[in-house]
Amino acid sequence: MHSKLELTRETKYANSESDPCVVIVGGGFAGLAAAKALKKAAVRIILIDRTNHHLFQPLLYQVATAVLAPGQISSPIREILRSQKNTTVIMGEVTGVDKDQRCVFVKSPDRENVPVKYDYLILATGVRHSYFGHDQFEKFAPGLKSLANAVEIRNKVLRAFEQAETEEDVRRHRDLLTFVLIGGGPTGVEMAAAIAVLVRNSLRSEFRRIDPTSARIVLLDAAPRLLGSFSESLSQAAKKRLERLGVEVRPGHAADQIDEKGVIVAGERIASKTVIWTAGVAPSPAGKWLDAETDRAGRVRVQRDLRVPGHPEIFVIGDTASLDQDGKPLPGVAQVAMQQGRYVGKLIRRRIAGKNGQRPFRYFDKGNMAVVGKGFAVIQSGKLQMSGFLAWLAWAAVHLEFLAQPGLRISVFVQWIWTFVTGQRGSRLIVDHTGPGSAKSRPAMAASTAPSSQPPGTAVVSSK
Ligand SMILES: Cc1cc2nc3c(=O)[nH]c(=O)nc-3n(C[C@H](O)[C@H](O)[C@H](O)COP(=O)(O)OP(=O)(O)OC[C@H]3O[C@@H](n4cnc5c(N)ncnc54)[C@H](O)[C@@H]3O)c2cc1C
Repeated sequence: MHSKLELTRETKYANSESDPCVVIVGGGFAGLAAAKALKKAAVRIILIDRTNHHLFQPLLYQVATAVLAPGQISSPIREILRSQKNTTVIMGEVTGVDKDQRCVFVKSPDRENVPVKYDYLILATGVRHSYFGHDQFEKFAPGLKSLANAVEIRNKVLRAFEQAETEEDVRRHRDLLTFVLIGGGPTGVEMAAAIAVLVRNSLRSEFRRIDPTSARIVLLDAAPRLLGSFSESLSQAAKKRLERLGVEVRPGHAADQIDEKGVIVAGERIASKTVIWTAGVAPSPAGKWLDAETDRAGRVRVQRDLRVPGHPEIFVIGDTASLDQDGKPLPGVAQVAMQQGRYVGKLIRRRIAGKNGQRPFRYFDKGNMAVVGKGFAVIQSGKLQMSGFLAWLAWAAVHLEFLAQPGLRISVFVQWIWTFVTGQRGSRLIVDHTGPGSAKSRPAMAASTAPSSQPPGTAVVSSK
């Protein structure tokens, strides 16, 4: 076991070793916003994330449907914070918290349970998929939460068409070319529409033995209507748009069974080789680490200043936290996470400067949006409700604004224009990390001495 001293000895901070140490777990929207808000504070920050990158989850579906490459929606956390001299970034997985000793335990590739001491702790570990007690579904219906998930889904979707093109038995085309999405929230709606556009715009003229436009896309949701967080009329507008794109929308239907043959819903089997889970999420284990009170969904109940009750030095923010505002729980969206991150950063800064008292956290809701295929989105912001092309332009502008770095904004903007005009996708490769030619399939020596197939400077898990 390594001590705190061993970890900090090699660390070159701009600030003094005696400055309070803020440990932030999670480099997502909430953790990153907190770190940036502490840029000028007299603190030492250690930001720990199990990946090396900050991921812009709202555009994950565009990686899964081959519009964008993984490297266009994610950036190395280290690069984003490179000019922030009071911050050290560590890639490792936090496995627990000792509140009495004030340390978190980190698992890194070479060491287990490395204790990292804190004076202030900010937990911003997001959520994971929830299969509502049916974890056996995961094997057949991947969810969309990480870049690896998005690439897996992209591989599955593209491979289905390749397989159908070579398949002699035309009866098998039906299950190969049937795509089922489970969950009619924004992610399910955006994915279903994007697959429909992929099929009808990009793939239609490229195959000789199959007709890609014969693909069947089914969107299931247990709730009576899609996009439950939007008004009834916007939900109807989204449904109509999906149906015009050829998506079969089936609200009020939960999947009873998912297996290698497809889905069983209301007693009917839908044969499919590609089932995608866009339904539930479950919080990270932060509540267990802290032994703190959680809500029904397992998120840590925090006070109005986002502290954990009884622990003025521990904050939980973003999707991992549960806080009611005006009698309703705050939604798990990026805006809540970023605003909470900034709030906690400011609160710690004030406390260190000896200033007490900060107003309780209040979320400023800028609205909800979801895109439904090419040139169409729905937006709800206060009393404003909008659907169509103008809403889509607003959606595009907001998403570009919130990408982590200027380089990504330019790259995504250019790609969107190109795809809009030509229908061509940015990253339509099937990348099999375990197949022939991959590092995993080569003998160990060859793998370690072979030149990398990644271009220099590619620092996220895969940029293909
Ligand atoms: C597919 C998809 C689409 C979405 N679309 C939208 C949208 O259009 N608009 C919107 O507002 N919101 C959207 N959201 C929700 C939004 O992305 C989340 O609300 C937001 O990411 C929450 O931020 P966070 O910082 O709490 O968590 P995250 O952004 O999930 O970050 C958590 C971080 O913690 C790290 N981590 C987790 N566990 C550990 C551990 N044990 N040790 C170390 N590191 C750990 C993770 O690697 C990750 O980097 C979408 C989410 C998904 C999945």
